[in-house]
Amino acid sequence: MKKRIQGLSDASKEPALVPMPVSVKRGKGCFVLTQETVLAADEASERSAVQLAGFLRPATGFNPAIVPLAGRDGKVIALVQDKDMPDLGPEGYSLDIEPDRVFITAPTQAGLFYGIQTLLQLLPARIFSAKPVNGGEWPIPCLAIRDWPRFAWRGLMLDTGHDFQHVPFILRFIDLMALHKFNVLHWHITDLGTFPLEIRNYPKLQDPATLGTRMRGEPKRGVKPGRYTQAEAREVVRYAAERHITIVPEIDMPGHSTPALIAYPQFDCPVPHKTWEWDRWEYCAGSEATYGFLQEVLSQALDLFPSRFIHIGGDECPKDHWKKCPVCQAKMKAENLRNEDELQSYFVRRIEAFLNSRGRRLIGWDEILEGGIAPNAAVMAWRADKQSAAIAANAGHDVVMATTRHLYFDYPETVTPLEKVYSFEPVPPGLNPGQASRILGAQAQMWTDNHPTEKEIERLVYPRACAVSEVVWSPAGLRNYSGFVRRLSAHAQRLAELGIDFDMPEEAG
Ligand SMILES: [Zn+2]
Repeated sequence: MKKRIQGLSDASKEPALVPMPVSVKRGKGCFVLTQETVLAADEASERSAVQLAGFLRPATGFNPAIVPLAGRDGKVIALVQDKDMPDLGPEGYSLDIEPDRVFITAPTQAGLFYGIQTLLQLLPARIFSAKPVNGGEWPIPCLAIRDWPRFAWRGLMLDTGHDFQHVPFILRFIDLMALHKFNVLHWHITDLGTFPLEIRNYPKLQDPATLGTRMRGEPKRGVKPGRYTQAEAREVVRYAAERHITIVPEIDMPGHSTPALIAYPQFDCPVPHKTWEWDRWEYCAGSEATYGFLQEVLSQALDLFPSRFIHIGGDECPKDHWKKCPVCQAKMKAENLRNEDELQSYFVRRIEAFLNSRGRRLIGWDEILEGGIAPNAAVMAWRADKQSAAIAANAGHDVVMATTRHLYFDYPETVTPLEKVYSFEPVPPGLNPGQASRILGAQAQMWTDNHPTEKEIERLVYPRACAVSEVVWSPAGLRNYSGFVRRLSAHAQRLAELGIDFDMPEEAG
């Protein structure tokens, strides 16, 4: 390993953009951002111009005026929304930089936002400084860029259900995602460690004392307990939406539910637990009270999270207690369910029907395929060996790739190095074009079972998330690991300005 190359990127070389755009044509000369530069916007783009001014202000100290687009000549950065650009798709943009003007044009605000992210990366890396840079010059090389993403789902997953993270950290996580044109933060809110989201009428969900009483007399070792109020969750959603990132919340059921069941044992199977099997609890799938509780929890979650997809987990449900539970067994008999896999499928179908009735779609880990998948469910494929992505796509279900082997960032770099992440191809081999169109995209997972600090989380996520951003954004044919590593050495300076340092890989391919 060697330290990243010092010094500013040379504007005459290949622009060091991450992720790599669809098309870049180089021009001659530079546009120079100065105190006099104004931002020109049509009415539909004014919000984007305000946002751009906000991105430029901290490092440059400039306070660019925002003026109407009409009749503007001379040194401007112009932002234009043009719905008549179907080739760019719903998230694409064009960015034209000439010595006298910069034009960002896109059919949507999301497209303008991505054009702005690219523009920021074309400025010297110090543009990402939180403090004014003394004597800074701000050239932007002349280029013409046409760009749009390969996939509609470009995500990272953050796990607050094994270990709590604070809201300011999550907001920073979102800022870093925006820089890389990610558009989904899968917020894995609840799991074996904690249930940190405030649910009205169920205050014990976040009560560490309650958890402690039942878990061997003390809180589960290493778990940092915490709580997100509903107001905080709303703030996270709003902050992400401004950056065109959808928060997909995950509330785990029927397994990975120990904290909720310790707090409210009436939703547990009436079967004794052995102390060592604290990770093998599941909601009683035979009890109507369970469905009432979960619908109440989900109702409150739907009020907070406008996302079309709602993740319900569905993974690693042991079903041991269901086998011994008279309530579950009675339900299976009444509903003609042959085994506990079918009971899980029944459970997921009921939750799906509830979500569909509220205009939302269920997504779950690929175990929801077992025992029969719910009719409209989307699948998050994590187990490559189960061929779950192909099975789900073949049956007409949408799929998000989240494969353990390439996309689990809780694994150290020694296990999942940058090059391996970069090599990931989201569309599994052997799918026909119709099935391939079911692959919505991919995401990397940051699990916190091992209780990393917030700083350690960032070190695990970067720079591997840079590789994922290119996997999900850039055309497959343009991907090239040595080119990526070359660009990454300039990109590292941007991340350093943002407080993230990492060692570059030894060889550029
Ligand atoms: Zn039961």
